[in-house]
Amino acid sequence: MPASTQGAERIHDMIIVGGGPAGYTASLYAARAGLDALLLEQLAAGGQMGLTERIDNYPGFADGIDGFALGEAMRKGAERFGAETRLASALSLALSGPVKRVETGKEALRARTVVLATGAVPRELGLPGEQELLGRGVHYCAACDGMFYRGRTAVVVGGGNSAAEDALLLSRVCERVFLVHRRDALRAEQVYRAPLLRAENVEFCWNSVVEELLHDGAMRGVRLRDVRTGAERTVDCDGVFVSIGRKPASQLVRGQAALDPAGYVVADESTRTDVPGLFAAGDVRTKALRQVATAVADGAAAAHSAQEYLAALGR
Ligand SMILES: Cc1cc2nc3c(=O)[nH]c(=O)nc-3n(C[C@H](O)[C@H](O)[C@H](O)COP(=O)(O)OP(=O)(O)OC[C@H]3O[C@@H](n4cnc5c(N)ncnc54)[C@H](O)[C@@H]3O)c2cc1C
Repeated sequence: MPASTQGAERIHDMIIVGGGPAGYTASLYAARAGLDALLLEQLAAGGQMGLTERIDNYPGFADGIDGFALGEAMRKGAERFGAETRLASALSLALSGPVKRVETGKEALRARTVVLATGAVPRELGLPGEQELLGRGVHYCAACDGMFYRGRTAVVVGGGNSAAEDALLLSRVCERVFLVHRRDALRAEQVYRAPLLRAENVEFCWNSVVEELLHDGAMRGVRLRDVRTGAERTVDCDGVFVSIGRKPASQLVRGQAALDPAGYVVADESTRTDVPGLFAAGDVRTKALRQVATAVADGAAAAHSAQEYLAALGR
């Protein structure tokens, strides 16, 4: 479907916010359907997939695949059919009415449908100093920043797959790794858990939470509290890797679309939201399982639902 008009007056059929697997699948399907779709991505193709060295549970790759490479392949696959990407951050959305507005700071874009595919971002500890130390003592991605801690001591906070993967990666570069978990066993799957439990330089701090980040401009350590006894101890370290889960990146539609109590955009398999013309795909929407395979499924469904919506408008 051609753009209504060109330049500043242009009204896209679809603006997709976010270039993770959900966004690039929506982009691929939209391009193949002949829609005038523009995808906005603020960082790099692939989204959270870029944070893991290996994805083993996305079908079609017998030996697994590097997450960043899979993101690039998804981008190229969509662009092969003419999909358009712009490196830009959507700063605000105005979603009421038949023509939606997307502000990027540099330009005001317009579209008849918006696919929100902004994914999820790391959950923070919420401790004083966390923001100031971001990127120089406090980190949310071991694959990205672990190399800064070669031969040093790192603390990983969390007990799920991501925390276990982070701790394992850091155990290969750091002299010592402490894994702090509020329960007495890891939630991580066996494939992550088993090698971690074997790693000799990893020490587990079970039933513990971080009470305080100890720093003097540089990270010096953490104060831990045992959740059962209340006993406190200090662990010296150079860096803290926080891996306590993720939260939806839904702030762009807060106050405009229905969110569940955890902040996820309320939408079913069709990805339709309570705002006509707004579709929520991938980790940002309410669903049982947040994975690459389910994000890709949502991207396809979003493009399909948007096509139906546009057809009903007579477009
Ligand atoms: C460390 C780690 C390991 C993982 N391992 C696996 C695995 O092995 N297998 C598996 O199936 N899943 C894995 N996952 C989960 C999987 O990566 C996610 O479920 C999937 O990436 C979700 O896709 P998405 O497209 O919904 O969102 P995301 O991947 O989060 O992508 C969202 C994109 O939107 C962009 N964005 C956000 N806001 C804006 C804005 N305002 N303007 C422009 N762009 C914006 C972001 O920059 C990002 O690129 C892993 C996740 C992590 C963090």
